[in-house]
Parts: sequence; C-alpha cells; structure tokens
Amino acid sequence: MSFLPNSQLHTGGIIREAGNAHDYKTGDWRTFVPEFIEDNCINCMFCWIYCPDDAIEIDTSGSKPIMKGIIADHCKGCGICAHECPPAKKGKSALVMVREEK
Ligand code: SF4
Ligand code: SF4
Repeated sequence: MSFLPNSQLHTGGIIREAGNAHDYKTGDWRTFVPEFIEDNCINCMFCWIYCPDDAIEIDTSGSKPIMKGIIADHCKGCGICAHECPPAKKGKSALVMVREEK
C-alpha cells in the first residue's frame, strides 16, 4: 500500500477493512431500483447470492431463509438481482427494475 508523501490522502480503490459494505450508505445515486413483488417470490435466494452489495434483506429465523425486500440504503440499482430472479410464478419474476422516483 502506498500513500501520497506528506499527506493524509490514501491511494484510492483500496478496501481497508474487508466486509464493511454495511457501514456505508451508497444507494443514493441510482437511477433504477428493484421492485419486490412478494407474491411472485419462491425464496430461492438467487438475489441474495448475486447481489454485489449488502442490499437484500432476508429473514433467517426459520428453517429456510425468507426474502424480505431491498435495503435501499445499499442498493446501487445494478439490476443483477432482477436479472437472476427466476420467472417462477406463471412466468412472472419477483424482482423488476423500475425507474426510481426522486
Ligand atoms: S431471486 Fe427472486 S424468487 Fe428468488 S428469493 Fe430473490 S426475489 Fe425471491
Ligand atoms: S439492484 Fe444490484 S445492488 Fe440493488 S439489490 Fe439488486 S443486485 Fe443488489
């Protein structure tokens, strides 16, 4: 790791503490956001597995995890969850990307 001489500025692009995504609110610059349609969800957890951030809320208190929704503070609107969400209920997916109302 290198630092600029005589400065407190750190070199960019370095994650100094692993697993710190939950500590930062990074979901305020997206254009699209996933809409969760609970009736179409089969709780396959693909969205949780593929989300590159800490933006899928699940309930693990039961014998199987349950999808609860999107954590807006962390969702960047990348759409990966909606892409991976299977159209399992009569061809309908539980996650659909929609333009966010600002
Ligand atoms: S990927 Fe879709 S069906 Fe699977 S848990 Fe997430 S929202 Fe539910
Ligand atoms: S849009 Fe991207 S960041 Fe937001 S919940 Fe889906 S996969 Fe995660």
